[in-house]
Amino acid sequence: MADASDARKLFIQAILLRRYMTTHLAQALWHKCREDVMAVDESVFVQDIPWDELVKEVNQSLNSFDLEFSRGHDEITGVEMWALVNRRDDEVAQVASDLSPSEITYFKALVEEIILAPDHAYSISSIAAMRDPVKPANMTKPGAETVLASFVARGWLLKSRKGQYSLSARSLLELRSYLRKTYPDDLLECQMCLELLTKGVACPTGPCGIWMHVPCYGQYQKRSGKCPWCQADWSIAPEKLICAGERSTKAANDDDEGEQTGYE
Ligand SMILES: [Zn+2]
Ligand SMILES: [Zn+2]
Repeated sequence: MADASDARKLFIQAILLRRYMTTHLAQALWHKCREDVMAVDESVFVQDIPWDELVKEVNQSLNSFDLEFSRGHDEITGVEMWALVNRRDDEVAQVASDLSPSEITYFKALVEEIILAPDHAYSISSIAAMRDPVKPANMTKPGAETVLASFVARGWLLKSRKGQYSLSARSLLELRSYLRKTYPDDLLECQMCLELLTKGVACPTGPCGIWMHVPCYGQYQKRSGKCPWCQADWSIAPEKLICAGERSTKAANDDDEGEQTGYE
């Protein structure tokens, strides 16, 4: 005998399995769970509920496991993302539990290189990613290439068309506490959404230190053409502002950030 609560249980299982997804996909999964339960038992009707309420219910269920279905945004597109965030452990080994010990060593070294890249680049070339000692000593170069590709495929890293590696929305969400704890002085925050920022624009005045993701900047520009802090004129195209991310590097082409996403 199925009942309406089975749809929620199915949905939570789907979240535990996929771990991160867009809102679009998450909502499609929820409707699929409702349909599946109703198909099993025609006498059961599973009422749809507003998304925010469903998320609240899901998080009440996940709370006892110290997990949270948490919202973030893709830094380039602004697309809303959801990830299963471990609230108890913030160590990479616990968070990225799909990685083997040598992959974790490699991933942590890559995260460090990306966060500490000069000029707020928050990205590294594939040559830098495979350089010793970033790459574990016991890993061959072809082996490292395979592991890097799997980090991208599993949504931990982004690889741009120019071959630069950066942190994905999944990493920024799931590793948020680890990053804040490990690199307290090296992270930027978006003035608009208050999420971590590794790709975005800054006030051209410089010292006021106001940063925004490009989609957040687009939203802000509809309301104001001035920096919210120093009142400098912001009525210029985002590519004229100071940049964080791959665009901040000299090698990058000004009109093509070259980032690739692909969460579904
Ligand atoms: Zn933002
Ligand atoms: Zn300013």
